[in-house]
Amino acid sequence: MKQRKLIVGNWKMNPESKDEARKIASDVKRAMKNIRKTNVVICPPFVYLSPLSGVSKGNLFLGAQNANAERLGALTGEVSFSELYQFNVRFVILGHSERRKMGETDEIINKKIKSVVSSGLNAIVCVGESVRDRNGDYFGFIRSQIHSALKDVNRKFLDRIIIAYEPLWAIGAKEAMQPRDLLETSIFIRKVLKDSYGSLSESIQILYGGAVDKINCAQLIEEGNVSGFLVGRESLRPKDFIEIIKIADQI
Ligand code: PEP
Repeated sequence: MKQRKLIVGNWKMNPESKDEARKIASDVKRAMKNIRKTNVVICPPFVYLSPLSGVSKGNLFLGAQNANAERLGALTGEVSFSELYQFNVRFVILGHSERRKMGETDEIINKKIKSVVSSGLNAIVCVGESVRDRNGDYFGFIRSQIHSALKDVNRKFLDRIIIAYEPLWAIGAKEAMQPRDLLETSIFIRKVLKDSYGSLSESIQILYGGAVDKINCAQLIEEGNVSGFLVGRESLRPKDFIEIIKIADQI
């Protein structure tokens, strides 16, 4: 089964003003008129979700970069998935290495994933090794990150799970991973999912993230066997982000 492409833009803690955020979102929205086979998600900081809630339409979606697993409560400074849902948020990035560095454990990530999917949203689950050792121990690391993230997730919600493979050494780097190495890893991830869920795992999309740009994106999709990307820096440059979307859409 050929999956629709999925391109996710992670804006992180950018841009500095609401006007800039509006401009990026409206440029992307305009470009989506000619995009047929690709879904796009933009994930701005929380405070821009409300002013941008109107951009989600057709194959353009809004995503968040985090949320709390609880529905509501005395949790100062936190936001819940059901609160996000009301602002048209349909995707949430979870397990990003930057949040893991801030102290998010596998257990917290797993709790959030279960909460996201049961709230009717889609979870973009980031996994990836920090180094590629010669013995290939990183394969075991990726497998265990996937197993912990998806532990006890109800199988009926598997189609709301997206795995974003992001090797930490490629995030924010000058160069992306080599497509042949990506192919090896995406085949491995597909096998890990299949071993756990059989044919049900086929609905889970696998994305790649790490220094994706308009130059390397075609080869990464074509040779890396992924169905899209999680894009950092380039998602804040609308021209380049749109170019990535257009290229992916033509493959
Ligand atoms: C990221 O932070 O998830 C990421 C992929 O960043 P960049 O595209 O800038 O490498």
